[in-house]
Amino acid sequence: MVEDGRALRFAIIGAGMAGVLSAIKLKGAGLTDFTVYEKADRVGGTWRENTYPGLSCDVPSHLYSYSFAPTPEWSHRFSPGDEIQGYFERVAHEHDIERQIRFGEAVTSCRYDDGTWHVETESGHRDDVDVVIAATGVLHHPKLPDIEGLDEFEGAMFHSARWDHDVRLDGARVGIVGTGSTAVQMVSALVGRVEKLSLFQRTAQWIMPQDNPPYSDDEKTEFRANPQRLAELRANLTQVFDTFANAIVDADSPEMKMIAGMCRDNLESNVRDPELREALRPDYQAACKRLIISPDFYDAIQQPNAELVTEAIERVEPNGVRTRDGRLHELDVLVLATGFKTDAFMRPMDVIGRDGESLAQAWSARPSAYMSISIPGFPNFFMLNGPNGPVGNFSLIEVAELQFGYIMQLLAPLRSGECREVSATRDAMERHEAARVEAVEKTVWVTGCRSWYLDDRGIPATWPWSFDRFRSEMHAPHPAAFEYR
Ligand SMILES: Cc1cc2nc3c(=O)[nH]c(=O)nc-3n(C[C@H](O)[C@H](O)[C@H](O)COP(=O)(O)OP(=O)(O)OC[C@H]3O[C@@H](n4cnc5c(N)ncnc54)[C@H](O)[C@@H]3O)c2cc1C
Repeated sequence: MVEDGRALRFAIIGAGMAGVLSAIKLKGAGLTDFTVYEKADRVGGTWRENTYPGLSCDVPSHLYSYSFAPTPEWSHRFSPGDEIQGYFERVAHEHDIERQIRFGEAVTSCRYDDGTWHVETESGHRDDVDVVIAATGVLHHPKLPDIEGLDEFEGAMFHSARWDHDVRLDGARVGIVGTGSTAVQMVSALVGRVEKLSLFQRTAQWIMPQDNPPYSDDEKTEFRANPQRLAELRANLTQVFDTFANAIVDADSPEMKMIAGMCRDNLESNVRDPELREALRPDYQAACKRLIISPDFYDAIQQPNAELVTEAIERVEPNGVRTRDGRLHELDVLVLATGFKTDAFMRPMDVIGRDGESLAQAWSARPSAYMSISIPGFPNFFMLNGPNGPVGNFSLIEVAELQFGYIMQLLAPLRSGECREVSATRDAMERHEAARVEAVEKTVWVTGCRSWYLDDRGIPATWPWSFDRFRSEMHAPHPAAFEYR
């Protein structure tokens, strides 16, 4: 209850990293009238859904943690997925938010009518709220490849985000389609277990060498005893990642050249066979696609039971994958590490904004949002990690925290009762989008590669400026960019 103001009711959609964050922050601000809707049965989002062998974060763990919940306990510089899942479960539990989460409730529609969002779930549950926070994720809807015969495969086949743990891997012939971070992590983890590993590569990837040492007991003891040490470590990591973030938005920067040099040296020094080295050499600039980090991928792919298949896939057959050269790669297990539908966001949820405008209409060309947070015509509806935000080699936790701080400021006049609704203006949206499209021209993402950053026009659907600029934009909303009614 807000004194002399308006008590707001919230629906948070999704209990991944961003939904858990929203619940904790709302509660911390005394805004306790909220329900989190989560279609699955646990918190964690990405880290609940992805359980493939070798999964780890590729942003250092001490940076990939909430700023308000640092932990001295991370096992590795880049900790494994189950540990990250455990972290989100623990933080949610410690902040006592599970009781406000309705698990097993997929939100199917949100309809705005006269100052209220009418939220409905698949089970028919209804909720009327003042504010919706959509924390439904970006890398959430698995994308399956368009390969002929996929359904005919008689072995086990699954997307990397739907790992079937009942399938035996030891001694099996395993094929992996895709060469992104997920595939690279899997190759390293699986090659020592399987009889044969075939990696089907359409596009070679630059690999940034990065060790992943465990934290020693002494280090953890020091972190526990001295939280200042942890804070310093995080500050140092932030600086390193800022440098990287600045490099990728300026394809000609010295930092970018340094990164490219490191990737090239990694390939030259660590792949012995010249033919394999050339097959693994990308024909585009490093970091044009999301940069992959790995301490041991080149080592793994050079194992005698590993094969890099560069011939294009013709079709999938009951016994394996047939490549264009006519060869059948016999397989027991086929893993589709083919990424996600990154333009889906909260869809297929049906969202109807002011004046009956649907999200399908608003996004008929492609998804867009002012500052990746607010859609004109959809008042009091805010997204975390929405369209065109900073995705890439960043900590999306920091992104979501900054966005949430911005949303809280937008809510202030609602809470005080000065207005009933707030959303970005169409003019602000158009100007922002025009500036964004102009700025992407300088980035490394347009230097000649196909990547999931690119939209249907080939324009990166990302934040094209420095991370410092993102921080500064998130510091306070421009009042003129919003309409308050
Ligand atoms: C393999 C992999 C590795 C990654 N590694 C990193 C990394 O190292 N660093 C980094 O910063 N990021 C990484 N990411 C990105 C990662 O997705 C984000 O860091 C973060 O976990 C996203 O959190 P989120 O809450 O925004 O979305 P998600 O984690 O996707 O959570 C969204 C939640 O919303 C729920 N939901 C969706 N729609 C509905 C609905 N209609 N009704 C109810 N519930 C719904 C989903 O079930 C899910 O629980 C990685 C992603 C993947 C897939």
